[in-house]
Amino acid sequence: MEVTCMTCQKDFEIDAKDPQYSKLKRGISKMYVCKNCNQSIQGQATNLTNIHLDDLDPHNKALKYK
Ligand SMILES: [Zn+2]
Repeated sequence: MEVTCMTCQKDFEIDAKDPQYSKLKRGISKMYVCKNCNQSIQGQATNLTNIHLDDLDPHNKALKYK
């Protein structure tokens, strides 16, 4: 699915791994913010960063739940 970041206006191709994908696909939200802009907006962005790392690294996640 191709989306345009509402902040930097660049186009991105996202898939189901993106946390914003399901919202965009169901039409709940038409606004996409890319990860770079998201971090800039959030400033510290510690929570978002943690979520993304967990999503991207199943091994990490497995360790966490042991
Ligand atoms: Zn952006």
